[in-house]
Amino acid sequence: MTTLPAKLQAVLVRIARAARLYGRDPADVLLLAVSKTWPAARVRDAATAGQRAFGESFVQEALEKVVELRTLGLDWHFIGSLQSNKTRVLAETFSWVHSVDRLRVAERLSEQRPASLPPLSVCLQVNVSCEASKGGVSLAEAPALAQAVAVLPKLRLRGLMTIPAPADDFREQRRPFRRLRELSEQLQADGLLLDTLSMGMSHDLEAAIAEGSTVVRVGTAIFGERNRA
Ligand SMILES: *Cc1c(COP(=O)(O)O)cnc(C)c1O
Repeated sequence: MTTLPAKLQAVLVRIARAARLYGRDPADVLLLAVSKTWPAARVRDAATAGQRAFGESFVQEALEKVVELRTLGLDWHFIGSLQSNKTRVLAETFSWVHSVDRLRVAERLSEQRPASLPPLSVCLQVNVSCEASKGGVSLAEAPALAQAVAVLPKLRLRGLMTIPAPADDFREQRRPFRRLRELSEQLQADGLLLDTLSMGMSHDLEAAIAEGSTVVRVGTAIFGERNRA
């Protein structure tokens, strides 16, 4: 069985290879280790192997790990669907939220971000594949939401995130990532300062890097198969 440090290393090699292949600096692609459903001990193993940024999808589960591992100084990113009544914990304990898809939750995150902390980095989750089952703002509504979120005082709009429909073919994998990049370019032309494209997971990170991803969110390839999504 491959050990966690070896799997982590293999993912870093995949990222570096893809970056070089597409003329990018590997240092410009952050690996976010998605530790949802895995116990704090596994996160600690990954941290010992050098991983600093972790992604979580469930607020209560994440909070337990954040508290247990607080002495490690890890960087916590929330990537799950947002409920208005759970924004306070996120505003108080996370450094990033990738899944903002409506103004109401953005306003709450900004209001609830403690004055003592730097602004919360956020991405808008965009539903590029138009899947009804997936969260995210539509491509059409994203520009207006981006402008509204960008002016909230305790948030820093960093960019866009997407979870496309799974595809096996490389060119098919690239298509939704390209749409997200084009939207990002459009928003930047409209005056927004964005530096983040959060796209790519275990099975499609190369396609995402080819299209300009700056954050790949990888769970299975580091921690193994999850028992629940
Ligand atoms: C679970 C999850 C991931 C990780 O997916 P893997 O296929 O396990 O790499 C990435 N992004 C989001 C939003 C997730 O919920």
